[in-house]
Amino acid sequence: MGAPTTIGPERTLLRQRRRWLVVAALLILVGSAGSVLGAGAIAREDHRQAERNATNSATEVSVALVRDIDHEQDLVDLAGAFVIGDPRFSQADFVGWGNAAQIFERYPELEGLGVIMYVPAASLARFESVQTLVPTASPGSPPGAGSYQVSPSGVRPFYCLSSMSLERKGQLSSPPGYDFCSGPLRNGLLGAGNTGVSSYVPVKTATGTELAFGTPIYQGGPVPKTPAGRQAALVGWTGAEISPDVILANALSGHPGTSVTFHYGSNAGNTSADAGATFASGPRARGVQATTFDLSNGWRVRVFTPVGGGVRTIADALFVLMGGVLISMLVGLVIYLLGAGRSRALLLVRERTEEINHQAFHDSLTGLPNRALILDRIDQMVLRSRREHTSVAVLFLDLDNFKLINDTLGHTIGDRLLIAVGTRLSGILRGHDSVGRLGGDEFVVLVEGNAGRPEVEMVANRILGVLEAPFEIAGSDMPLLVSASIGIVNCEDEPAEVLLQKADIALYGAKAAGKKRSMVFSPSMQVDLDDHRRLEVDLHGALEAGQFFLLYQPTVSLSTGATTGVEALLRWRHPERGVVPPDQFVPMLESSGLIVAVGQWVLKTACRQSAQWRRPDRQFTVAVNLSAVQLENDKIVDHVRSAMSAGDFDPALLILELTESALMHDPESTGLVLARLKSLGVRLAIDDFGTGYSSLAYLRQFPIDILKIDQSFVVGIGDSEESAAIVHTLVQLGKLLGLETIAEGVETPDQLRRLTDEQVDTGQGFLFARPLDVGAVDRLVMEDPDYFSMITAPK
Ligand code: C2E
Ligand code: CA
Ligand code: CA
Repeated sequence: MGAPTTIGPERTLLRQRRRWLVVAALLILVGSAGSVLGAGAIAREDHRQAERNATNSATEVSVALVRDIDHEQDLVDLAGAFVIGDPRFSQADFVGWGNAAQIFERYPELEGLGVIMYVPAASLARFESVQTLVPTASPGSPPGAGSYQVSPSGVRPFYCLSSMSLERKGQLSSPPGYDFCSGPLRNGLLGAGNTGVSSYVPVKTATGTELAFGTPIYQGGPVPKTPAGRQAALVGWTGAEISPDVILANALSGHPGTSVTFHYGSNAGNTSADAGATFASGPRARGVQATTFDLSNGWRVRVFTPVGGGVRTIADALFVLMGGVLISMLVGLVIYLLGAGRSRALLLVRERTEEINHQAFHDSLTGLPNRALILDRIDQMVLRSRREHTSVAVLFLDLDNFKLINDTLGHTIGDRLLIAVGTRLSGILRGHDSVGRLGGDEFVVLVEGNAGRPEVEMVANRILGVLEAPFEIAGSDMPLLVSASIGIVNCEDEPAEVLLQKADIALYGAKAAGKKRSMVFSPSMQVDLDDHRRLEVDLHGALEAGQFFLLYQPTVSLSTGATTGVEALLRWRHPERGVVPPDQFVPMLESSGLIVAVGQWVLKTACRQSAQWRRPDRQFTVAVNLSAVQLENDKIVDHVRSAMSAGDFDPALLILELTESALMHDPESTGLVLARLKSLGVRLAIDDFGTGYSSLAYLRQFPIDILKIDQSFVVGIGDSEESAAIVHTLVQLGKLLGLETIAEGVETPDQLRRLTDEQVDTGQGFLFARPLDVGAVDRLVMEDPDYFSMITAPK
């Protein structure tokens, strides 16, 4: 059954959208958190990298510094070697060497380079004489021989006097006789002489503090091993004066933002009165990392390098953070859109699939499960019943008179009626029962759970009962009455097809037993059905085998009691079964189309026979039944004409009986055929009148002569007011239309009296005579045409 799917998909979609929204939100959250962490990590890593960079930078700076100083040392050592190499070395030679070596170009930090001699008091006079003879090379120095004078003057055990010097500025920083061991360099020079190791001393000058350093020169070259040896062999010092600013700037080049201090401390092993001098260069900023290098010779280098790249790191982290958040949001949005879109697409696919599935498994007219689904449900139901040890049943339902309604009122009304029947059936079923439509007017009801024989029969009765109430169908000017027959099978473990077939057989049984009832399948029915099928096979050869014959039932004038004619009724003498009544084979003839040929034979036989009964003094009609199938075939006119052609047959004596459904099946074309038949001179009767739904308009339109009131009304005329009323109405209708009325199925004198009272023209029924063979008609009727007057008018 159709699931309530009106609001379901929307809700599902909403739920799925919400789910995707949550997924997207989570993604954004996680992405953002990741971005924050990432940004933090970047910041930290940047900082670490910056620290590493700072340390590297500091190392580089300090290495450059040390390298420059070493460089200087090399120069000083070179100068020393030069001096020791030749004792007669003069200032002029020194100047020449300095120029050749381009020392001031190659050593930009070098301010001055010179040689200081260690002059014991005893040697002073000789030193003085040499110095006076040799003028200094310094351009600005006073050229004065003999003007050499030790300063500060005074007698001391030794003097430290410059023997030669080169100055960048061309000016001696100290006068020629200046005793360096009486000044700030004293400790440095003497310390260096004692230890054999160069010493560095900061020297305050007019322009700032410079760095002086001295390297001892010993007699013979190498540094003597012992302090005494060094004392004895000390010749003097080579010394350099350098500008620390230049060294520091040089070391800092390529390290922006870095600053450096170059500190000379007293704890350096040298004892210096001037300990604590500091040279500094470069900008001092905040957030810098200080790295200290102890050169372990009294000098300590502190390098201040900026850490973290500051703004850049923040920018990087911010970039990562915002970029991450943005990307997360975009991805979240995309995921949501795709996800929601995908949900939507999936939903559409599912809806479409459901729709197609529904179409595949449901009847398009009633929306009920179709054959395929019903078969599946039967299988499921049987499986369940085996598992749960319950009994289940299949009810096969067929409307008794649907064809009539459909044919007479049209397919639109028929369809509406089927829908209404489906609705009614669904309405009375319990939850676990279901109803489906197999096609046409065939419905199936599945009864589950407690479906023992009494329960199922109760359900069947309920169904029959609920269908009894008239159906008010739009487009139909009268309420429609339907009845149904039901075949029931209590399910065994068998395939659905087989069960359905058995229910169908039971239905066939119910129909055969008089319709409007239910019947439970029994194996004997299967036999009946097989029988039926065999009969159908046999029927095909019956005409050629001459197994058909006609009986003739007299019709009697109710006013005079005279026999007016006969109705030809078909019989089949089956070689094994004997005489078979038409109810059992006429439908087969109709469905197989054999009725056309057989009907033609009936017409010919009846006409030929009736010609025998023709009498000059009175009319003697013969009525022949025609099926709808015969009317559909336009050969019918030829068949009728040729049937009447034998002898000089009066067409007015031939009555063609047509049922309402045969007439209304296709009113347009039927009207044409009827007109052509009518033009042959025959009379037309509506058979079983009152059971169909022929509209008055068509009755007027068709060239009808006789109404045959159906025997079901005649049967009830004595004890049912309703039947009496219907008979009354039908007779009045006949009179109104100027038609002859015949009541069929007259069985009792009471019925006869009432029909006579209603002024019905003609009667037919067992009360007068059963269908008779030709001989009986000859004997009974032909010999005394007023034979029945004793019944109609008992004296
Ligand atoms: P029908 O045309 O309504 O024929 C009347 C039926 O009512 C006959 O049944 C007849 O035996 C039966 N009958 C007559 N009087 C009484 C009565 O007082 N009480 C009862 N209970 N029944 C009575 P039958 O001969 O069995 O025919 C049944 C139906 O078979 C006919 O109904 C007709 O529709 C069809 N049929 C018979 N012969 C032919 C035929 O040659 N061609 C066609 N197309 N159909 C035929
Ligand atoms: Ca008839
Ligand atoms: Ca009839």
